[in-house]
Amino acid sequence: MDGGRKVWVPHQTDGFKLGRIVDIGTDSIAIEPFDAPGTTINAIYDRTFPAEEYDNKDCEDNCALMYLNEATLLNNVRIRYMKNQIYTYTANILIAVNPYYEMPDLYSSNTIKKYQGKSLGTLPPHVFAIADKAHRDMKVNKVSQSIIVSGESGAGKTESTKYILKYLAESWGTHAGPVEQRILESNPLLEAFGNAKTVRNNNSSRFGKFVEIHFDNKSSVCGGFISHYLLEKSRICTQSKEERNYHIFYRLCAGAPEDLKTKLKLGAPDTFQYIRQGCTQYFISRASEKNLNADRKSQEYLKKGSLKDPVLDDVRDFNVCNEAMTKMGINNEDRLGIFTIVASVLHLGNISFEENHEDTKGGCMITKAAEDSLVTAAGLIGVNKEELRESLTSRVMQTSRGGVKGTAIKVPLKAGEAQSGRDALAKAIYSKLFDYIVRRVNEAIPFGSSMNYIGVLDIAGFEYFQVNSFEQFCINYCNEKLQQFFNERILNEEQILYEKEGLNVRKIQWTDNQDCIELVETKGSGIFELLDEESKLPTPKPEHFTAEVHNRNKNHFRLSHPRKSKLKSHRGLRDDEGFLIRHFAGAVCYHTTQFIEKNNDALHASLVFLVQDSKNKLVQKLFEGTKVQAGKLQFSSVGTKFRQQLTVLMQKLSSTGTNFIRCIKPNSKMVDHLYEGAQILSQLQCAGMISVLDLMQQGFPSRTQFSDLYNMYKSYLPPELSRLDPRLFCKALFKALGLDDKDFKFGLTKVFFRPGKFAEFDQIMKSD
Ligand code: ATP
Ligand code: MG
Repeated sequence: MDGGRKVWVPHQTDGFKLGRIVDIGTDSIAIEPFDAPGTTINAIYDRTFPAEEYDNKDCEDNCALMYLNEATLLNNVRIRYMKNQIYTYTANILIAVNPYYEMPDLYSSNTIKKYQGKSLGTLPPHVFAIADKAHRDMKVNKVSQSIIVSGESGAGKTESTKYILKYLAESWGTHAGPVEQRILESNPLLEAFGNAKTVRNNNSSRFGKFVEIHFDNKSSVCGGFISHYLLEKSRICTQSKEERNYHIFYRLCAGAPEDLKTKLKLGAPDTFQYIRQGCTQYFISRASEKNLNADRKSQEYLKKGSLKDPVLDDVRDFNVCNEAMTKMGINNEDRLGIFTIVASVLHLGNISFEENHEDTKGGCMITKAAEDSLVTAAGLIGVNKEELRESLTSRVMQTSRGGVKGTAIKVPLKAGEAQSGRDALAKAIYSKLFDYIVRRVNEAIPFGSSMNYIGVLDIAGFEYFQVNSFEQFCINYCNEKLQQFFNERILNEEQILYEKEGLNVRKIQWTDNQDCIELVETKGSGIFELLDEESKLPTPKPEHFTAEVHNRNKNHFRLSHPRKSKLKSHRGLRDDEGFLIRHFAGAVCYHTTQFIEKNNDALHASLVFLVQDSKNKLVQKLFEGTKVQAGKLQFSSVGTKFRQQLTVLMQKLSSTGTNFIRCIKPNSKMVDHLYEGAQILSQLQCAGMISVLDLMQQGFPSRTQFSDLYNMYKSYLPPELSRLDPRLFCKALFKALGLDDKDFKFGLTKVFFRPGKFAEFDQIMKSD
């Protein structure tokens, strides 16, 4: 680093700031920032990076930067984003910045045509180019492919996924035939039931999905299959401030035809406890909506609420969802069944309880005001109202003595317990309805003659909030697995290959996260197993579970007691209230109070029996096969189920060719053309992009077999050359073209190119 040199130094909000070195000390460097002449910033050597020569020049591939480091990467993506070029490669990995405005030309059918059959790098970076590469690789290598789309909430994963599906359906469908139509239509349907407005995203997916598009022996679309993961259940009963429940609840209330509304006894959304909690003011009634135009102030006020949201049009969206159901082959009867269940959840939520002081056994009863809701809910669920009352306010337990089953006894519940039981029932009904919807979608897109598939994974990225619970724990564990897979694919396999080919490239260090994965999943001491063990105890206790986690993993590098918060308003956690895990993307403190209940999917036995006896055919179907463990506390582990699903997913990913798309949320205001550097830098770090830079800087990301090059180009060259064996042929060819030998390396079976150099070479050959 010389004096006077242009460099990037860390900056709190921009990520990095550009300046010139004015003094070089022993431990740090002093820089004069360009935007504040006369001032200086001190930075340590490790965090100071050389800058590119030209300030406003960008590269389509970060690998083509003269100085490849995290500051130039952040800046390159910024320059492009500001020029409305939201996509940038880092070799084969696509970085996609959410533009937060519509770019119809970027995704038009014309653009789709342009990208067909073009190698990566020949056209500007695009999701279409990744989709096309996946399809070409599938066709040529005869191996299924996957595209892993990651990023934080609002980064654009779901939108990118939809564009990939559109590209595949339009390019290799049988001209918008019914199957690919239905694959595309599955989105509005799944989003209606599985997406919600959150403070981070007005249309946030609250479940993960892996969408497989299957192709026949002509590489045309022949069907699809969707797997889904971890629907967020807590949202069905409670929402945080300014957030909503799943879209379908509001859409049904707003958009259902009058006769349906009457049948399902639907009122305005603010009359239902389950869907109005996120609202800053509860009573946005129809009347106040009508007054909207008259009173601007109340309009502003309304915007803060989340029932009638200014950016969402529930009536229009209800019709879109309805249309999607029709296309999916869901007939009127089934549709009524589905809406009935949605409405039943709403009415169930309005059943409230109070302690029954006259009951000597200390039980509770349903409040007078909620009697109507009980009647309606029972009617919609298809059960007797007295039986519903019974099952909600008491629990059946089987006595046993010396291992012999005794009589069943009824234990009255306290109001709080009854409320939890009611919530568990609502969650079970809704999440099983969601499973059913996915099943219906899969039935509508069957694949008969599949040769291979392209799978697109749209799942939440690493996350941490002020309070992190079981949901964050599961999703961050999943991201550890995906990160390990990414490391293995991109970094490890790359190095192994270089060694095998004798390329003599320096070994790259990265932090392996296997120990973190083990902390969560090891047999005996892993957190998931300890949680299940605790749940099976007669009286599971969060403090005991937490203590076990610490005791059984003493001195584990990745685990600590929770940090004491310095903030008064946020007192931090006691040691037995949580634990801290050092994830690859940063340390997260988990609050364990609700881990046990969130890990349990089971209903009280009496509730299971009740719904299994329902007269409503769909309700009966949803609970078909739900097991009841006689005499025991009911327990069905959410964590174990998720781990099993994840194992299947990881096996699938391992057996496919992989492509990565890293989505970036440019700002937390959800507006266009605003680049919040520090936040973006942290997302790039979480996405593993910084460690990739190291590798790419020294590496050779494009490679081709000598024999392939030989076959591709022999016709372009004089016959004397084509008599040579493929390796010699390539050497002679490169010499003849005068290629710079820094741009490629000859391995044993392949030639390796520096980033972006293969595309350049290909162009020279084809233009000659
Ligand atoms: P979550 O994890 O919450 O589901 P996500 O990563 O799936 O978030 P999206 O729902 O895909 O995020 O994107 C959020 C919003 O950003 C979209 O509703 C849309 O308004 C906008 N958006 C995302 N990608 C694009 C794009 N390519 N063009 C235009 N707008 C986009
Ligand atoms: Mg999404």
